[in-house]
Parts: sequence; structure tokens; C-alpha cells
Amino acid sequence: MEIRSVCVYCAASSEAPAWLFDEAKGFGAGLARRGWRLVYGGASIGVMGALADATLAAGGQVLGVIPKALVGREVAHSGLTELRVVDTMHDRKAEMFKSAEAFVAFPGGFGTMEEFFEMLTWKQLGIHSKPIIFVNAQGYYDHLLAQFERAIADGIIRKENRVLYAVAQDQEHVFSMLEDATVLNRVPGKWY
Ligand code: AMP
Repeated sequence: MEIRSVCVYCAASSEAPAWLFDEAKGFGAGLARRGWRLVYGGASIGVMGALADATLAAGGQVLGVIPKALVGREVAHSGLTELRVVDTMHDRKAEMFKSAEAFVAFPGGFGTMEEFFEMLTWKQLGIHSKPIIFVNAQGYYDHLLAQFERAIADGIIRKENRVLYAVAQDQEHVFSMLEDATVLNRVPGKWY
């Protein structure tokens, strides 16, 4: 599948470390350079806002999707190429899912994790076959990835399902993965 839009899940926090802001900004600029649209949660705050600002500043296109209840709390970004205000959190995730060909999980909190876990489980069920890439900068997801290995060792996650996701060391590595058809096209066997 040709990449035109990339959905990024990342933190709404403004207290995140400087390296994370740098990673997000670098990624936004990289998206713009490739002419790939950013799809994200529509906030102007935290790492989310920095990512959108960097994409726009580099001349890129950004679609934000935000539930109406969060327009004030996450301060909906007013300068995006397009902002879709939806009714619910579920609508937000569905819209983001439909609007992108790949999902990138930056270091994030509960919201980020909830979002990428849904994409992982949908892929496991065969609902989609789009790439899901973790940005494991500074080893942020080491513990989570170790948890997956524990679940595989215990026979709780099927080892074939390791291919549901790929792990990048930093934002630049994500681009090399998204430009590599062998990463893009790998899908698990039938779950049932
Ligand atoms: P966090 O990683 O906790 O900073 O959250 C990142 C983004 O995920 C924020 O825009 C949250 O509003 C969003 N988020 C949190 N929970 C959900 C959910 N259940 N559905 C959709 N978006 C969510």
C-alpha cells in the first residue's frame, strides 16, 4: 500500500523530556519532506502540538481529529490544514484509522497506548494490515516490549504475532522502515 498519510500517536503532555520533543519535531519535518500527511489527535499542546507545528512549519499537511469534549482541554490546534471535530473518543480513533496507511507510536501515556493497542488488536484480528511502528527512542518501550516477549514465552501471545509491529530506534529509523516494502507488507497468519 502506498503511503500518503501517517497516523502518529503521541503524548499530550508538555512536561515530556526535551529529547522527545526533538524526536517529534524531526519526524514532522521528515513527513513534510516526503509529502506525507500527518494524521493526529488535533491538540495544540504537548508533544502532539510540537509535532503538528513542525510538520506545518516544514510545509507539510496535517489532519487533526479531536472529540468536541476535548477541544478546550487539549486546546484544538487552529492552524491545521484540516481539523475534524467528532462526537466521541471512539469516533476520533475510527477517523484516524481510516485516514492513514500506517501508524507510528511515539513514547506516550495511557492515551497513546490505548490507541496503538487498538490498532494492534485489530491487526491481530485481520481487520487491517497496515504497519504499526513503535518509536523506541531512549529505550522508552523496552519494558513493554519485554512484556510482549513474556506473553509469547508463556504462550499467551502467539509468536507469529511478533510481526504485528516493528520497532524503530528513533524517528529517522521509522522512515527507513516505511520505505521498506518488507516491513510494510508483513502481516501475521490467520489468527482463527
Ligand atoms: P497521552 O498519551 O495519555 O498523553 O494521550 C495522547 C492522546 O490520546 C490525547 O489526545 C488523548 O486525548 C488521547 N486519548 C486518550 N484516551 C483515548 C481514547 N480512549 N480514545 C481516543 N483518544 C484517546
